[in-house]
Amino acid sequence: MTVRRILSVGDPTLRVRAGEVTRHNISLPAVQDLIDDLIDTMRHANGSGIAAIQVGEPVRIMVMEVDNNPRYPYKPPIPLTVAINPEYEALDDRTVIINEGCLSVPLRGELERHVNLRVRYTDRDGIDHEQVLRGLTAGTWQHECDHLDGVLVVDRIDPRTLSTWEEFDRHHRDPFVERITRFEAEVGA
Ligand code: ZN
Repeated sequence: MTVRRILSVGDPTLRVRAGEVTRHNISLPAVQDLIDDLIDTMRHANGSGIAAIQVGEPVRIMVMEVDNNPRYPYKPPIPLTVAINPEYEALDDRTVIINEGCLSVPLRGELERHVNLRVRYTDRDGIDHEQVLRGLTAGTWQHECDHLDGVLVVDRIDPRTLSTWEEFDRHHRDPFVERITRFEAEVGA
């Protein structure tokens, strides 16, 4: 496993649409090694998710995990999930404003996400999964799927809410965490 360099906003690779991984290719060492590197890179950076495109590999693979994350202490736990060719559909029209960050972007800010999703993906053993995700975890799923289509948070964030992490901590963290914690309890995420 290797910690890979994470591309930053401005790198053209972050703007391409990542290609599907064929079922036949999932077991290839190059794909399995890439998945190991993604897990290592995400954990090293304290990310809650990372897409392969963020390490310069434009294929539709992403990983997510939240376990007492110091970067996002308000996020509910997500078991380690490796999602190949991930998709989602919103279950209803409900949305929530989330203050999001990204390992490829030095700023964070507020954007709108669907609250209730049905997601589908194939795991690293080639097994298909379908599940319902809600709240912040659904937001993380949408964030990683955006990466696979070359979309970054800066495309969705209300520009007037952009802040550095330092200013987020100073001015916005407490009210956001209070609101989102109440919200998570209510949606039962
Ligand atoms: Zn991101």
